Amino acid sequence: MSKQTHAFQAEVAQLLHLVTHSLYSNREIFLRELISNASDACDKLRFEALNNNGLYEDAPDLQVRLSFDQAAKTLTITDNGIGMTAQEAIDHLGTIAKSGTKDFVSKLSGDQKSDAQLIGQFGVGFYSGFIVAEKITVETRRAGTAAAEGVRWISGGTGDFEVETITRAERGTSVILHLREEAMEYANTWKLKEIVGKYADHISLPILMEKEEWQDGELIDPSNEEAGRKPGGMLKTGEWETINKASALWTRPKKDISDEQYADFYKQISRDFEAPLTWTHNRVEGSTEYTQLLYIPGKAPQDLWNRDKKAGIKLYVKRVFIMDEAEALMPSYLRFVKGVVDSADLPLNVSRELLQESRDVKAIREGCTKRVLSMLEDLAKHDKAPESTDGVTDVLSEEDKAKLGQYSKFYAEFGAVLKEGLGEDFGNQARLSKLLRFASSTHDTVSVSFADYKARMKEGQDAIYYITADTLAAAKNSPQLEVFKKKGIEVLLMTDRVDEWALNFVNEFDGTPLQSVAKGAFDLGKLQDEEEKKAAEDAAETFKPVLAKLKEALKDKAEDVRVTSRLVDSPACLVVTDDGMSMQLARMLKQAGQQAPEVKPVLEVNPEHALVKKLDGSVHFHDLAHILFDQALLAEGGLPADPAAYVKRVNALLS
Ligand code: ADP
Repeated sequence: MSKQTHAFQAEVAQLLHLVTHSLYSNREIFLRELISNASDACDKLRFEALNNNGLYEDAPDLQVRLSFDQAAKTLTITDNGIGMTAQEAIDHLGTIAKSGTKDFVSKLSGDQKSDAQLIGQFGVGFYSGFIVAEKITVETRRAGTAAAEGVRWISGGTGDFEVETITRAERGTSVILHLREEAMEYANTWKLKEIVGKYADHISLPILMEKEEWQDGELIDPSNEEAGRKPGGMLKTGEWETINKASALWTRPKKDISDEQYADFYKQISRDFEAPLTWTHNRVEGSTEYTQLLYIPGKAPQDLWNRDKKAGIKLYVKRVFIMDEAEALMPSYLRFVKGVVDSADLPLNVSRELLQESRDVKAIREGCTKRVLSMLEDLAKHDKAPESTDGVTDVLSEEDKAKLGQYSKFYAEFGAVLKEGLGEDFGNQARLSKLLRFASSTHDTVSVSFADYKARMKEGQDAIYYITADTLAAAKNSPQLEVFKKKGIEVLLMTDRVDEWALNFVNEFDGTPLQSVAKGAFDLGKLQDEEEKKAAEDAAETFKPVLAKLKEALKDKAEDVRVTSRLVDSPACLVVTDDGMSMQLARMLKQAGQQAPEVKPVLEVNPEHALVKKLDGSVHFHDLAHILFDQALLAEGGLPADPAAYVKRVNALLS
């Protein structure tokens, strides 16, 4: 076939016009696109050769070679993959076949600046070459055809391209980029190595470059060898070396990967110096195919609390790196997870915007979430050595032994973030609830699960009791806990800032309601005996006049004043209504500079307490009333509205 000229499909011409007339912030993506095409071509050859081994000809090692010629201003990407026939070159390099690219082209607005940015972001496959090249020559031969059936395709990236037959000994494709003057930086070994390291380290295909060696130049003084030589420069040696790692760890079978290799890979992708706590590695098949390699770090990063922090997942499509921090692949409450997702279905030119909408991505996100939760459930299950029920202790396997204490470790670092999931991921709420751990009035360490608590509940107890406070000490010594201690009822102590918010979304565990001991009227239900109830009712009756006076004195501070039997040693405490915001949360919001409703608590007094008994008829009634209120506020971690007035009142009484 002698030289023929063909016109580009209209959409290609439109696209090329934009590509050639714009400058790009990340124009280096052209290399990613071309290497990825080369890699696809090798994959195709591998596949076809399954039925026709002859296609390998005498070159069974599939590879990509990068080379450049500074004098000729060319950069060449050569693969020994499937290659193209003349017709294929005309069809594939003259039209846009892929629907993704078509959609993309239809989105172009015609505004050069914004379109340029879009192209840079998406990459447009083969045509990306024109970002850096003023002319592209493709020389190719389809595997299995005769050397004389090679093809040369040439285009300046305007309206048309030329094709002619050539003789090409080796199968596969060379894409020769005739670099623009301002793109000459790509005719450089270091630059190319850098880009390959960034985008193609995990392509399993070796990418080769010719080794360069430093050569000394001619003698400075021909009559005196001692004077040394002029600098010669880097010279090609004719030896080729692989410049990418050429092995995507996650594509290898699990059994071939050592723990050390897994840990090394984690360190490489996370820039963490410490080993990960654990990981999960799976190939997921079905309607959406992908491989996931997900790690839980051993330590929380400094900025864990930043909810804007990006996810730690790198997205690959068929081993080609697409993007870092693919937040669409992992919910925010699992933002500490690091790893890689390699999808077989997503298009290479997928953008963050497209990710948000993709159904495949949704499936991947759900799959990854479930995997992480299973991994945590497994750690939680093996956190403690099982207690023996029959006096015989089980001998733990090495694997289980390694898991001892791991969940506690995880929880100490990331437990509070995990709790965000209660409000963020309703579908997994039940699973998340089971993963929660708390300290309690009977267990100082953060180790009590709702299930542990339920198993220890008293006969007749029908709620899981908890208290939220700023610190463990404040929670433990809170007046609201007194009667629970007296009766030996366990109360969960919640001291993470997120607890109050997160518990808004959880009303019960496994059929048992959660009840804050600082909210609502005191009611222990069946745990209170008749005698106690009667005494409380009597006290309420006798205290009526005092309560009325207290209410009047504290009308600006307290919503209501009532007697309670929840107190043992303290004279008074503050509670809020059942569905009201706790005072602690209100304070937290205020500190964070956010709008918080004014919370007016209920003052509850202990009719058995000497100070309360003294109220009736006291000449200091007004001062005592305010001291009672302010002390109750202090006890639960708040500050009196007027601290100086409080001090004055106490001092007056003391003296
Ligand atoms: P995509 O690769 O996303 O389909 P491109 O515009 O990059 O889109 O390439 C169009 C087509 O050209 C490819 O689908 C492939 O058939 C062919 N092609 C491109 N590069 C090569 C190559 N190095 N070897 C063989 N075929 C190629």
